[in-house]
Amino acid sequence: MDPQAEPLLELFRTTGAYLRGHFRLTSGLHSPEYLQCALVLQYPDHAEKLGRLLAESIRGLTSEPVALVASPALGGVIIGHEVARALGTRFVFTERDTSGKMTLRRGFTVTPGEPAVVIEDVVTTGGSTRDVVEVLRAAGARALAAGSIIDRSGGQAEVGAPRTALATLRVSSYEPANCPLCAQGIPVVKPGSRPA
Ligand code: ZN
Repeated sequence: MDPQAEPLLELFRTTGAYLRGHFRLTSGLHSPEYLQCALVLQYPDHAEKLGRLLAESIRGLTSEPVALVASPALGGVIIGHEVARALGTRFVFTERDTSGKMTLRRGFTVTPGEPAVVIEDVVTTGGSTRDVVEVLRAAGARALAAGSIIDRSGGQAEVGAPRTALATLRVSSYEPANCPLCAQGIPVVKPGSRPA
């Protein structure tokens, strides 16, 4: 495990955000563990501190001044906002429309060439972060880097930009057909924000 991960995981444990059971992830995979960032981020002091740490990590990825932080709603909104506070930039968020396409709504715009970073709470496959990178580029911004509190992919997720995380984990996850917890008949729960 990433040695930097331990103090962060301790924060997840003390706030009840480190769940054990049988979970269906947004990616569709099943896992015996789930890190519910919302339970850490419900405390503004923790959110602010994690935002500061992630902003420092982002500064290590790009020497260019950043003008904009963008995050996928809902999961990325609180941490993205705190990273923007730490970087002194504005903050926007993207949402999926009814067809599932990631979009900038609510009148949010970017300026041509605007240097931006994408922040999410947890990267598993990198899909949401990659979608935000693409939305920003399609709108004319430059997506310089991306970051998350947790990287569940063991560093494997590709998002189309240099990427960092406060803790990189390789959490066991299974295709439902190969899931040992399913094989034991344990009911699966969907802990995230999207309906199962
Ligand atoms: Zn399962």
